[in-house]
Amino acid sequence: APVVRKPIVGGNWKCNPSKVSELKELVANIDACDTSGCDVYVCPSTLHIGIVYKSFKNGAKVAPQNCNYKGCGAYTGEMSADQMVDMGLEWCLIGHSERRGEFGLPTPPESNSLLAMKCKYLLEKGMKVIFAIGEPLPVREKGLKAVMETLIPQLLEIKGMLDPARVVLAYEPVWSIGTGVTASPAQAQETHRAIRQWIAKEVSPSVAAEIRIQYGGSANAKNAPDLSKCPDVDGFLVGGASLKPEIAEIVAAVA
Ligand code: PGA
Repeated sequence: APVVRKPIVGGNWKCNPSKVSELKELVANIDACDTSGCDVYVCPSTLHIGIVYKSFKNGAKVAPQNCNYKGCGAYTGEMSADQMVDMGLEWCLIGHSERRGEFGLPTPPESNSLLAMKCKYLLEKGMKVIFAIGEPLPVREKGLKAVMETLIPQLLEIKGMLDPARVVLAYEPVWSIGTGVTASPAQAQETHRAIRQWIAKEVSPSVAAEIRIQYGGSANAKNAPDLSKCPDVDGFLVGGASLKPEIAEIVAAVA
């Protein structure tokens, strides 16, 4: 029988909203999502996690946007998986391109090796991981082969950690994030398929068949129906549109 992958949609609020008073509305948008046929998670800013993490009535999960790989202790400005576990958080997002450094972080960008250490630590602590990967525009312009040559090094160090029950991949082409330029269904599908083929070869066909791969990058209520028809697209990681009521329409489109 063919493997049925449960769709999963995440809302990445990034460093939004600017006011605590705006959280109520954003929480309501997430609460309006029908979670009966789709896993839903939301990534509030670090400062806001403690305020909203018990707010969701529909089973939406809260996933921090980052973590360290060492636990608690003398790590100023960091947060640890240990704290997340204690708070009952199950998921954490790592590897977002805005942390990998494509947009010029003042601090050193996060490398593939660092992200593999974070992934390992989260899994050791019993958490689940959304692991984001993606390629910049000049690479996309060279075609799928070049895209995979960029994505494979992002996956290589976590290939032994790809437990489909606990790791979700988020394919987010950097050129589509926050730009309004979405990957076409054909581009998303060929890339998701190539990622799955690589996993089939490097890990196992069953892991490749079972692991969920979200698409991210200017996903919205308009393009979600067509993108979610792609057989290898298992949901979305949504930035801008997750701050709006349309996040519920995106969830409805995949379920
Ligand atoms: P976007 O962001 O939907 O605003 O393009 C997606 C993301 O960065 O996860």
